[in-house]
Amino acid sequence: MTEKRVPIGEAYAVLGTTPPPEVNPWYNALRQLDKAAEAMNLDSSYHKILATPKRVLEVQIPVRMDDGSIEVFLGWRVQHNDARGPCKGGIRYHPGVHRDEVKALAMWMTWKTAVVDIPYGGAKGGIKVDPHALSQGELERLTRRYAFMISPIIGVNRDIPAPDVYTGPREMAWIMDTYSQIVGYPEPGVVTGKPLEVGGSEGRNEATARGLQYTVEEAIRVLNIDPKRATAAVQGYGNAGYFAAKFMHELGMKVVAVSDSKGGIYNPDGLDPDAVLAHKQKSDDKSVRDFPGATNLDKDAKAANAKLLELDVDVLIPAAIENVITKDNADRIKAKLIAEAANGPTTPEADDILHEKGVLMIPDILANAGGVTVSYFEWVQARYREWWDLETVRNKLRAKMTRAFRDVYSLHEEKKIDMRTAALWLAIDRVVSAMKWRGIWP
Ligand code: NAD
Repeated sequence: MTEKRVPIGEAYAVLGTTPPPEVNPWYNALRQLDKAAEAMNLDSSYHKILATPKRVLEVQIPVRMDDGSIEVFLGWRVQHNDARGPCKGGIRYHPGVHRDEVKALAMWMTWKTAVVDIPYGGAKGGIKVDPHALSQGELERLTRRYAFMISPIIGVNRDIPAPDVYTGPREMAWIMDTYSQIVGYPEPGVVTGKPLEVGGSEGRNEATARGLQYTVEEAIRVLNIDPKRATAAVQGYGNAGYFAAKFMHELGMKVVAVSDSKGGIYNPDGLDPDAVLAHKQKSDDKSVRDFPGATNLDKDAKAANAKLLELDVDVLIPAAIENVITKDNADRIKAKLIAEAANGPTTPEADDILHEKGVLMIPDILANAGGVTVSYFEWVQARYREWWDLETVRNKLRAKMTRAFRDVYSLHEEKKIDMRTAALWLAIDRVVSAMKWRGIWP
């Protein structure tokens, strides 16, 4: 009897498909662009250019698995705009990654590098994979093959990848090495977020949250919030979330709740972020849940994450995934300040509701721009073959973030527009000015 064939083609057909508009970040990114374009009366020619990415590369990544079989993954690298300099943006490994998500993230990178005024455009990469289901060897082969597949369009002067969700220094070292093998010489400037030993920067690990801290310091000043009497909740406990919790705690705030993909915890007297991290690292399921001295927000991880967002806190920091603050829960949000460590956590409808309610928003393209800013510092150091100490990095980062916050806040006040639209206005204006100077070729 012949074995029944698995319809592989049919199974792979869904791999590259994108979700419907309501839950598709690319639509959110385009609606944000439309809203800002309307507010600033953007020239429609440039609006059209910005509403499409400059280049989208979809790649096949065949990986020899440990059991000898071959698995095929799908990956993308999207370059949205390079008017202000080489493209820049992280690489995400997640089972939910799709082409449109990578496009949205690439567009947000264009705005982010422009808001903090570093000489880059915007890009993003992603692989649709659950990295936790792969061994280290499989992950290395996946990463190196992906790096090879995108190597024709990346480079120190072209497009410089960095870490994002579920990628870190280890993956960046593999990418740096793969690219260096291809070109025939060590090229530390091709990727940022590397380990210190291969040209990483001091302070890159904490950079996103450190930058967020500097913007929060500015925001609580204008809101007259005393950090020593303030409370905070953080959704997501990875690189951005853990450090954000730690730095809010350092400012004197009580971090009363944190969460991750497995659950969330609450203690009205405040949590010790380092103790929570130690618990997460040694727990069987690598989660913050069941932390001694705190109550679980809910048995169900999704419900726990939903409850965290609606807690009565002063500062709310979404630091996990997109589309968590929507028209369905925005009205129940009690925080006075939202600082978006994650990219795209708030939908455009929710933005309007929050603005109406008087919640001050530090939008993602400003709040989490510390990561790309220190990536820029790392790239500069790599190119000059010189290394700065942590104090130098922090001082330069504070200067960039404080200036960017003040620029966005003044525009928000002056034009009576929400903070996201103000940040976009500032960014789009800078990108369009560069495009106008360079012209459209031919
Ligand atoms: P990470 O992989 O270190 O951590 C992700 C965290 O989110 C984990 O704690 C995970 O458990 C949690 N999570 C995943 N799915 C979740 C879900 N459905 N509900 C609740 N929690 C969930 O990633 P990261 O680097 O900290 O990135 C987090 C966010 O910050 C992303 O949106 C990313 O784009 C953004 N960001 C990160 C950086 C950076 O430098 N790391 C820079 C800018 C923006």
